[in-house]
Amino acid sequence: MLLQGKTAVISGAASKRGIGRATAELFAAHGARVAILDVDAHAARQAASELSTSELGKHLGLRCDVTDRASCEAAARDVIEAFGPTSILINNAGVTQPVKTLEISDADWQRIVAVNMTGVLNLSQVFIPNMRDHGGGSIACMSSVSAQRGGGIFGGPHYSAAKAGVLGLAKAMAREFGPAGIRVNSVTPGLIQTDITGDKLTPEMRTDILKGIPLNRLGDARDVANIYLFLASDLSAYVTGAVIDVNGGMLIH
Ligand code: NAD
Repeated sequence: MLLQGKTAVISGAASKRGIGRATAELFAAHGARVAILDVDAHAARQAASELSTSELGKHLGLRCDVTDRASCEAAARDVIEAFGPTSILINNAGVTQPVKTLEISDADWQRIVAVNMTGVLNLSQVFIPNMRDHGGGSIACMSSVSAQRGGGIFGGPHYSAAKAGVLGLAKAMAREFGPAGIRVNSVTPGLIQTDITGDKLTPEMRTDILKGIPLNRLGDARDVANIYLFLASDLSAYVTGAVIDVNGGMLIH
């Protein structure tokens, strides 16, 4: 039980096969009380109701659009009212779009950057004051191997740019808030089997991709959830500003 008595907020944790949802399940199993924030309100409530119960009380599922500052502020108010001090924030929400540079419209760019990068700033800004006032906390931010190698398989250049921006933002926040006891780290997964890829992963593509993965399998949501758990817990008490690859060896650098 690594998170006994702790409260955790996880964005983008409603989709059934997603990384956020697997993280919420793992955190709840480790004793945390969890708030699932997702743009899909119904799915967020449903997901929260399906988590194993915490000794601190019921989990929460709330609508929150991470691109919208007011929506983040409202969600933070509700979470803090219900949970009290919140010491764990997992900035996990994200969307992708498989297009090439010359195909990116202004609206595409705005949307991909807003969800993947601005969303990290928005949620961090609304939870950091509470963490700072109550002795600190841990923030983990979702980046991607796509930020490191210049494109993934399903993310366009705008996705790579936004996810690379997350790394800089997280490192800067780690430096700024370390003295307040707030740790900020990032995760950079490779290809994880969730619904973010839609139905675009064909068996042929899969075989091809596996040739470049030394561990010879695609990742599971649980593989990333385990790293979020490490970062959220005191096991990583002396780790901040770090980037943890979860890619089966797809990128070794
Ligand atoms: P997913 O589609 O299952 O989950 C994404 C979740 O984010 C969904 O629940 C969705 O409703 C939510 N969301 C979307 N827009 C939102 C918004 N504006 N506000 C709040 N919530 C919003 O996909 P996933 O693969 O579990 O993705 C989780 C994170 O992992 C994303 O940031 C993604 O970019 C990142 N990632 C995924 C992979 C992969 O291969 N699956 C690899 C690297 C990084």
